[in-house]
Amino acid sequence: MPANNRYSRQIILPQIQKQGQEILKNSTVIIVGCGALGTNSANSLTRAGIEHLTVIDRDIIELHNLQRQNLYTEKDIGRPKATILKKKLHDINSEVTITAIVDDLNPKNSEKFLSSCDLILDGTDNMHTRYLINDISIKHNIPWIYAGVIQTYGMTMNIIPHQTPCLCCYTPTLPEPGSLPTCATAGVLNTIPAIIANIQATETLKILLNKEFSTDLIIYDI
Ligand SMILES: [Zn+2]
Repeated sequence: MPANNRYSRQIILPQIQKQGQEILKNSTVIIVGCGALGTNSANSLTRAGIEHLTVIDRDIIELHNLQRQNLYTEKDIGRPKATILKKKLHDINSEVTITAIVDDLNPKNSEKFLSSCDLILDGTDNMHTRYLINDISIKHNIPWIYAGVIQTYGMTMNIIPHQTPCLCCYTPTLPEPGSLPTCATAGVLNTIPAIIANIQATETLKILLNKEFSTDLIIYDI
């Protein structure tokens, strides 16, 4: 393996090696939401060599996103997050095939968008979409990684269908819309989504490589 290989620094890790890199190369991960969590996890996974990524977001980039949504710049304001993220990720690693979907995830399209992948990452900001992800996960036996951040803290949890508790086990009923605080109303420090998203990205590698993964609800207040 030449020392200048793109992945040389992670292939020498005993936890990855050449065969692990090959597994990552052939893995497909879908990131729902291209905000602070999604941009950070997409960045790490693209650099790590997950060669098939789909990013989903219906929103356009706004000035107040730049405080925490890494990879976006001032000249991207007004353009679709998923499209711009795809472009930035391709600039980082042109070996990765990235699919950008500019749409919201809803009960009519969730099956079509999510049902053929190895793992789904939650980069959303609402429980409604998380329930949709959970449904598809259970139905198609696809692991997903929940995450949420607000103010100075965040949490994440791996959900492996039929192995670990799912979202419905924790919260059987959907909270009333507007009943939970949001980053828009309560604020968020820009370092916490980067940390939580990178825990998600790390757990993604562990799950894909069939290594021991966290079964805890990880809560971190920075
Ligand atoms: Zn459950």
